[in-house]
Parts: sequence; structure tokens; C-alpha cells
Amino acid sequence: MASSNGTKKVVIVGGGVAGSVLAKSLQDEAEVYVIDPKEYFEITWATLRCMVEPSFAERSVINHTEYAPKAHLITSTATRISETEVTTANGKAIPYDYVVIATGHDDRTALTKSERIGHYKNDQEKIKKANSILVVGGGPTGVELAAEITVDFPGKKVTLVHKGPRLLEFLGEKASNKALTWLKKKNVEVLLGESVTNLDSNSEGGVYKTTGEKSVTADCHFLCIGKPLASSWLKETILKDCLDNKGRLMVDANLRVKGHTNIFAIGDITDINEMKQGYLAQMHSGVVAKNITSLASGKEKLEAYKGGPEMAIVSLGRKEAVAQISGMAMSGWIPGKIKSGDMFVSKTRKTLGLNSK
Ligand SMILES: Cc1cc2nc3c(=O)[nH]c(=O)nc-3n(C[C@H](O)[C@H](O)[C@H](O)COP(=O)(O)OP(=O)(O)OC[C@H]3O[C@@H](n4cnc5c(N)ncnc54)[C@H](O)[C@@H]3O)c2cc1C
Repeated sequence: MASSNGTKKVVIVGGGVAGSVLAKSLQDEAEVYVIDPKEYFEITWATLRCMVEPSFAERSVINHTEYAPKAHLITSTATRISETEVTTANGKAIPYDYVVIATGHDDRTALTKSERIGHYKNDQEKIKKANSILVVGGGPTGVELAAEITVDFPGKKVTLVHKGPRLLEFLGEKASNKALTWLKKKNVEVLLGESVTNLDSNSEGGVYKTTGEKSVTADCHFLCIGKPLASSWLKETILKDCLDNKGRLMVDANLRVKGHTNIFAIGDITDINEMKQGYLAQMHSGVVAKNITSLASGKEKLEAYKGGPEMAIVSLGRKEAVAQISGMAMSGWIPGKIKSGDMFVSKTRKTLGLNSK
């Protein structure tokens, strides 16, 4: 399957946090194909800042051609994978020597950068026009959005409804409590253990009802619920038996999909038992880049993924954050200084070999 000059063909399915770093790393030594429905990679952890400051997206939404100019970009969705090729929704069949599945979470959104920035402008308008805003979901997205709104637009009444017993359930209780205390101090009303029952009929705002028979009056709402893994397309393919019961791809120590020698998986789609975080997804990319390079040059010894320190920082507006680092929770200005000003945009751009400014 190698090209006529002997260069190996590597197909990367998904140009997100993990896939983008891998494409950048391999573009000089392999014939790289990136399949992604969007023409851009988006720094996911900057999205909530973009909703209150759309111009922030100029740097956090990055066309694939900017960081991987030598890669072939196929702007479509992968629909099938066989032993020899990946097929896309726009009718292409791309043969491969190595394939890397990096489809993360299913996030159907704008297909072009300008369209994406347009969405952010609409979001900001919606926030500006509203006096009261309902945020549905108390994971990192909902907490960060409620905090962004309350810091940038302090006069707005913000209510956050979360169906679970505590906010940020992927973190420990101490971190959850710190986020709750911070939001309450900023006058965000937080309803835990409640779901909104009439979202469909309230697209323009109104009276929202909850399962606990509470009513929330708000001029508009934002849905911030977790997105499903983007692995359903694999269910009818040669990888169907490699999915665990949560829809994640089972990988071995070298990040190869179990039972396959030339198919890898990286990022949130994998069954690696660790916190699902972008910096770890980028570490997966580093391991797989080395392993593909080794295999392509006939070496048998592959690198094993050893994991990294577990940490997560959830920003609370522009200056503060709540963090959990190796099990220890903290909040305030110190974690805020690490993430909340620039939202790791400069660092991520630098990782992709781009101007950090
Ligand atoms: C609010 C929030 C804040 C966060 N903050 C941080 C943080 O501060 N630090 C950190 O390290 N992590 C953070 N994370 C987690 C981080 O965003 C994820 O761990 C990371 O995005 C996972 O990367 P990925 O490449 O696996 O998937 P993704 O980044 O989700 O990328 C998947 C890509 O695959 C594409 N795709 C999907 N299906 C298909 C298909 N069938 N065919 C082709 N392409 C497809 C998508 O279009 C997308 O481009 C945060 C997450 C959230 C929600």
C-alpha cells in the first residue's frame, strides 16, 4: 500500500486534540491523510471563552492546513474501515498502511472556521440580549459557561440545572464543592439532582420546568450536556469486536487496537483507564507517532504508553479556576493563573508548531 516512493500511508480519522498533533508529527515522514468533517481543529477548552468573546476563536479555531500543510485533508466523515481502506461519507476510499482512530466525541457543529466564528457571535448576542440565562448541565462545559457569563456579564441572572448530585462529577467531591461555592458566591443559582423537562418547547426562553417540579424563568438557555463518543460508525466494521460496552476502543500497551497490528487508537475514544483529558490525548499521539515510525522502518520494538500525572483545571471566568492535581483540590487565583487567562491557547498553538500569539 506504500506510495510509489516507498513512503507509508497513514490515515488519521479525526483531526481533534489527539489527531492534530499526530498529523503534525508525521507529515514529514509519511503520506498523511486526515479525515475530519470540519476544515478546522478547535481547541476544545477555549470554546466557552469564545461564547462571551467571539474574537478569541480567531486563534483557537485553526484550519488543518495551517498546522499540517503537507497532509492530505479529506473534509468528510469516516463511515467504514476495512483491512485495507477507510471509506468516507463523500464516497472516497483511502488505502492505508497504518490507520489511527481519533474520533473523540461526537460534536456536530460548523464545518468552516468562519461559520464557527459566526456561531460564537450569535451566542454572544444571545447572552447580551438576555437578562436571565439557564445553563443545562453541570459538567466542565456547563460550569465554565456559567462562570464565563457571570464574570463577563455580572448583571445577568444565571441558573445552572444539573441532574447529578454534584457538579463536575469527573472530579472528587472537594473540587465539586469548591466550584459550587464559587458559583453561589457569584449569585449563580444551582439546582442539583434536577433535569429540565420542557426544553423542546422553550427554544426562545420562558418558564422551564424541572423533574423536581421547580420552575426556572429564563430568557434563553444553553445546553451543556456531555456528548456521546464518536464510535458508532465502527459498529458495522472490522473493529466492531474491539469496542467495549461503553463504546470505547480497546487498545494494548502500544496503543494498537486489540488484535490489530496496523490500527491504532488515541484520545478519548480509547479504553485507557485514566481521566479523559486533552494533554493525555496529546501524549498518546507522541507514542503512536514513534510506533508508526518504528514499524515503518522495520523495527519491532514499540513504545508503551505509561500514562501521565492526573490533573484537570476547570476555569471560573478570566482569573480563577478550580483544579484537581494528583487528587488534591484547589481553587482561586493560582490555578486560574495557569489556565483562565489564555485558556492554554498559546501552549496548544505552540505544540502544533504555530505562532503562539
Ligand atoms: C469544557 C471542557 C474543558 C476542557 N478542558 C481541558 C483542559 O483544560 N485540558 C485538557 O487537557 N483537556 C480538557 N478537556 C478535555 C479535552 O477536550 C478532551 O480530552 C480532548 O478533546 C480529547 O481529544 P480527542 O482528539 O480524543 O477528541 P476530540 O478533540 O473530540 O476530536 C475528535 C475529532 O474527531 C472528529 N470526528 C468525529 N467523528 C468522526 C468521523 N466519523 N470521521 C472523521 N472525523 C470524526 C471530530 O470532528 C473531531 O475533530 C476539556 C473538555 C471540555 C468539554
